[in-house]
Amino acid sequence: MDFLFSGNLLVVDLQKKEIEEEVLSEEFISRYIGGARANLALYEKYREEDPIVFGSGFFTGTPVPASCLGVVTGKSPRTGKVGHSPFNLYAGMELKLSGFDFIVVKGVAAEPLYLWVHDGLADLLDASELWKMDTWALTDELRNIIGEEMVQVLGIGEAGMKGSPAAQININYWASPDQFGFGAKMGEKNLKALALRGLNMLDAADPPEFNDRCLELHNRIKGSKVLPGKGFASFSTLLGGEDISGWLSQLLHRHSGCFACHMSCNTFVKYNESPTEMRSTEVTEPGILFTGLSYLQKLKKGGFTIEECGRILEQVSRLGLDPDVAADALVGEGVSDSKGAKKVLQELISAGEVKSGGWMSEEAAEANDQNIFSSWPPFKAIGEGIEKEWMQINALAYTCGICPVFMLTVPFVDAAALAHLMEPGAEMEMTGEALLEITQEILDH
Ligand code: SF4
Repeated sequence: MDFLFSGNLLVVDLQKKEIEEEVLSEEFISRYIGGARANLALYEKYREEDPIVFGSGFFTGTPVPASCLGVVTGKSPRTGKVGHSPFNLYAGMELKLSGFDFIVVKGVAAEPLYLWVHDGLADLLDASELWKMDTWALTDELRNIIGEEMVQVLGIGEAGMKGSPAAQININYWASPDQFGFGAKMGEKNLKALALRGLNMLDAADPPEFNDRCLELHNRIKGSKVLPGKGFASFSTLLGGEDISGWLSQLLHRHSGCFACHMSCNTFVKYNESPTEMRSTEVTEPGILFTGLSYLQKLKKGGFTIEECGRILEQVSRLGLDPDVAADALVGEGVSDSKGAKKVLQELISAGEVKSGGWMSEEAAEANDQNIFSSWPPFKAIGEGIEKEWMQINALAYTCGICPVFMLTVPFVDAAALAHLMEPGAEMEMTGEALLEITQEILDH
């Protein structure tokens, strides 16, 4: 594949400790586009070996708005069905630029390993010293070993190591949208982490035209009134939920966005030093990045102060637990500060079965239990007129590598708009209808 992809696939056999590289054909991308749809095709190919597939979308890592998404596909330890979970921030982009667009991981390693993928090279390395580390120590240690601060770590903590269905794959220090227990799948396979970094260049078929069309879309977004304010608090009121802005603002330090995104919905709070402190101080872990809204709403409703919320989410992230499930467990047990949390979180790790968590409405919880996508993006569509298309928008977003939160917010970044970018991007003639037919196959699977 010459354009918008590195053109390579990695097949990692943990049992044999072997890595094979394959060239991605034009036919594969024309047929399956990328992201979740391509992951599903690879999952089916290796199904007998219970693979977990990490893939980048068609536009991941390009100038297309919100093109930050990578996707994990596998049989969920939580639902028992095949599910797809996104990874955002900068991890999807680093996978795409690592020189490998898709990674199939199969088999079970005899001893703990991690996979280091960068600049067209891949190594399976010993993780016995890392195995018991929490995700914060793991991220620090891998960056230290590799000697590179920008390395993106998809790693697991104690929850994944112990096979808890409440485990998730963290993105560096932070909670991810994984609501399928894929952290336990990595734990089962004795795979502690994927470390991703790349300086690969992606070529467009017609760079001036591709850039012009991307710029046009960026300008349309900037000129429109669809974007909410910064941070998750703005989403809360937009969705008709409680106004949490005053609660968050007490310790608010900054808002930050993912790769190529106009919105900055991730919110960083400092709870170990003054949030107005801008210089580097001796406090090495001054705060936490909130990466989702539903668990924040749950914890606030359960009586947590913003400071205690930060402390709890640090514990949860270090353990590699799904924060939504953890919030349900803590609030359910009447815990409203970090002191009583340890016991509840350990019990959660030992529980054989957990509910999916996710958004608070019953309708959302029911859909989430049957779902093939993470309910991390608001279950209710935000843009007017797209309320009934949550699944369809997720399938499209996960395949093209665009954040679903963004697509649910900006209705004109739709199948037609994305198909319009495919010709100058990768010499692929596509219509919005044809693109939707391909992504519908994920829903029909
Ligand atoms: S909408 Fe939010 S979560 Fe999605 S890419 Fe943008 S900043 Fe990231």
